[in-house]
Amino acid sequence: MRTWAIANQKGGVGKTTSSLCLARCLADQGRRVLLVDLDPHGSITRAFGVPVEPPPQGTHELFNGEPIDKLAHHSGYPHIDLIAAQPAMATLERRSATQPGLGLALRRALLDADDQYDYALLDCPPTLSLLLVNALAACDRLIVPTQADPLALHGLEGMLRTAAMVERSRSRPLARQILPTLFDRRTRTGQQTLEHMHTYPGVGVCPFPIPVDTRLRDAMSLASREHLYGRGMIAYEHALQWLLDTAPSEEEAA
Ligand code: ADP
Ligand code: MG
Repeated sequence: MRTWAIANQKGGVGKTTSSLCLARCLADQGRRVLLVDLDPHGSITRAFGVPVEPPPQGTHELFNGEPIDKLAHHSGYPHIDLIAAQPAMATLERRSATQPGLGLALRRALLDADDQYDYALLDCPPTLSLLLVNALAACDRLIVPTQADPLALHGLEGMLRTAAMVERSRSRPLARQILPTLFDRRTRTGQQTLEHMHTYPGVGVCPFPIPVDTRLRDAMSLASREHLYGRGMIAYEHALQWLLDTAPSEEEAA
């Protein structure tokens, strides 16, 4: 199983949309995908119609050592299983102070489920938290959706700093790639921001920016087969192919 963390320390940049769309594109190719909702807001969980209140078993139990095969729900979309988010995940932060090793809980759970899925996609929260650190410790690569807007570069830079920090405590390198999102090719700032994304050493930039497309706005429809196919989803198909073509060496070995 290959594990991709979809993360950025800024909200509203397309993390959840990218997680959903990349999961769909992988699943449509017949690959078995596990989507892990690591954001206590539970956007992915809601998109699949799983109730957040009362919460089903999910990410929180994963941190109690429950195995993934007991926690994964069928999403309703062929080949995609889901580990649901719950509001109780917010209490994990407090536990991390007293419970050593909690930073590797997700990595352990995913290693145990290695042969059950081809890909695990981790939809991360926008805050520097135990959940984000778990995702960065567990993943084979970090994909940073970044809005093609100058204000979004701060979130990107914060994310790259956090990635460098976590990488120092990992036994293997952490590959990082930027996925430009919400791109409007008609604006100068969009083009300039895209150019700026190429200035971070060692960080790949997906050559297929995801355009603004109103068909991507409805996460509920993205999580179902009803979705209206259009240029946004086509861009995600190209982005996925690029991601598959640029697999870091540690992922090849996985
Ligand atoms: P995040 O998970 O980073 O907070 P979301 O994926 O939830 O971001 O996206 C933020 C908002 O922007 C959502 O309303 C989403 O539907 C919308 N959105 C994301 N990507 C696109 C896109 N390419 N075109 C149009 N709307 C988008
Ligand atoms: Mg989100």
